[in-house]
Amino acid sequence: TAVALNGPFTVKVEDVHYTYPQTTREVLSGIDLTITPGQKLAILGRSGSGKSTLAALLRGDRTPTKGQITLNGVATATLGDQVADYVGVINQSPHLFNTTVANNVRIGNENASDEQVWDVLERVGLAEMIKKLPQGLETQVDEAGLRFSGGERHRLSLARILLKDAPIILLDEPTVGLDPVTEQEVLDTFMTQLQGKTLIWITHHLQGVAKMDQVVFIEDGHLAMQGTPAEL
Ligand code: ATP
Ligand code: MG
Repeated sequence: TAVALNGPFTVKVEDVHYTYPQTTREVLSGIDLTITPGQKLAILGRSGSGKSTLAALLRGDRTPTKGQITLNGVATATLGDQVADYVGVINQSPHLFNTTVANNVRIGNENASDEQVWDVLERVGLAEMIKKLPQGLETQVDEAGLRFSGGERHRLSLARILLKDAPIILLDEPTVGLDPVTEQEVLDTFMTQLQGKTLIWITHHLQGVAKMDQVVFIEDGHLAMQGTPAEL
């Protein structure tokens, strides 16, 4: 099913329920949300409330057991792997692959030129560091990413997302494990570079939330509160 969707993109979460396979407990119950094009949404909630489950549904890795998520009216369930063309994801521990720096940035966008790769590395503040590596863009990255600090790994995965130019960006606690100063630097870079894109940001703390357009709290699989930062 090759459906080509045209932007701008509205994401609708419509009465979404989810129960993991081989379990009986519903971990999401009746979630309703509309995310308009370019909107910045923060999803807050305690550990175990269902945030990452909602993220898995939003990026099409799982299908709601009831209800649906649509992109401009098309259910993500019918889009399958194609959802990844529209939704770029950065997780808690960004994955690096056992290949060169350039290839790590090019994942999902294999035809990008070196110039385009340098451009996004510049935008995330990594170009200087990569230039100093013995083989520059062609330096091998080991999967553990030992050559890179936590903050650098996050920046590298942001570079990957920027190159792919997905219109919707999903961040699942993208700065967990970073020290507060690095966390703020990484968040500032994300916010500046993702301007104009739809942003869904999952976080367990309030830092940075004031800059968002919409904030929702998930409590035990339910939407407990929803509003602008000023209202909450
Ligand atoms: P955290 O802030 O700790 O990341 P979260 O809000 O992201 O928490 P989820 O990971 O969505 O929470 O988990 C919601 C509930 O679903 C939890 O009770 C969890 O135990 C359960 N759960 C998560 N993944 C699975 C799975 N693969 N199979 C069964 N249950 C799961
Ligand atoms: Mg989580």
